Amino acid sequence: MKALTLTIDKYIQLRQKQETDINFRPNIYDLVELKEVPDVNLINENWVKIKVKIGGICGADLNLLSLKTSTCLSNFSSFPAIPGHEIVGLITEVGSNVKNISIGDKVIIDENLGCEARGLVPCDSCSKGEYNLCSNYDKGDLSPGAIIGYCKDTGGSWGEFVVAHKSQVLKIPESVSFEQALVAEPLACAIHGIFKHLPRDDENCVVIGCGTIGLATILALKSFSNCNIIATAKYAFQSELAEKLGADEVFLVKKDLHIKKIGRKLGCRILSPVMEDALPIGGGADIVIDSVGNASSLANSMRLVKAKGTVILIGYPSYLEIDWTPFMAKETHIVASNIFSNLTINNEKKRTLQVALDLIESGQANVKNFISHKFSINDYKKAFEVASNKSQNNSIKTVFIYD
Ligand SMILES: [Zn+2]
Ligand SMILES: [Zn+2]
Repeated sequence: MKALTLTIDKYIQLRQKQETDINFRPNIYDLVELKEVPDVNLINENWVKIKVKIGGICGADLNLLSLKTSTCLSNFSSFPAIPGHEIVGLITEVGSNVKNISIGDKVIIDENLGCEARGLVPCDSCSKGEYNLCSNYDKGDLSPGAIIGYCKDTGGSWGEFVVAHKSQVLKIPESVSFEQALVAEPLACAIHGIFKHLPRDDENCVVIGCGTIGLATILALKSFSNCNIIATAKYAFQSELAEKLGADEVFLVKKDLHIKKIGRKLGCRILSPVMEDALPIGGGADIVIDSVGNASSLANSMRLVKAKGTVILIGYPSYLEIDWTPFMAKETHIVASNIFSNLTINNEKKRTLQVALDLIESGQANVKNFISHKFSINDYKKAFEVASNKSQNNSIKTVFIYD
């Protein structure tokens, strides 16, 4: 099968070159290679094979391609890997111990490879249903990998086929298209994030960033809270969509002007420190959700949150040099959100990905405008450039599509 492949050796080689040669400017597509690779096979009788119809490119993928991903979790990955953890497709093969899943079913895959997928007795986290925090990602029936896309045995959606454990498979309802279903993955990440500290109806929530995760966060907030939603967006096309999806107000990021405007809106007095951006104090957002996870989004988050307020990190920061002073000065609660697992709503425990899919099916979460660009994997270089140059291309979610 044809796939984009990734090796740790190439990653180390490019990172070392970047560190030693200041003139080295790697292309966004240098890390991966398009290749004919051996087909993926069922791990055992509890697994299924999926022909990928759409594979998404997410912010974390772009960080990886830009060589910004930490190697801190390298023990929880194995290579050569085929990236791509946003996966929708059709079942083409079913293991002998799989019931209720048939060849031809339209499915979305929960990418997490916890104890159940690995055929292990559940670890502490998995026994609570929190398989996104599993401690056994390097044990059991398959090679190391926290998620599909970083495990050499499963393939990933940047290739034509993927295998998944039966527990990872969710059926896509008849009325939901593959394109809509694909957005359930980032929407589930957003839902998992907001439930870390769900804003009450009378609270103010600031969403930093209006890329896919930021927009999905707005949809998630609209579905579970009546809080006031203020968003920051880098580009006008993002701002328009954020308003359409239900943000009460959206401010374009411009130096620290948006910080001053939002700060005033939230009842703050604005300090103008020497050599530093404006610092609103005395008011601020009850909850700030950082959908980006870079130095500037964190700087914005810590300025806009109120004293003793909460910042939820959904965007995945790795190596960042930032000034933590405002967090300290406000005794901010910082909560990290990692992918998703299960969620209990009204005493009912459900997979978060299923919750996202249900919101899409009911029409409550309108994800129609999320996928902005589609490419064949043959055109992966162009795809990565479009996905990473959002302003030039007005790109939101860029995906690979397959016949
Ligand atoms: Zn992702
Ligand atoms: Zn586990």
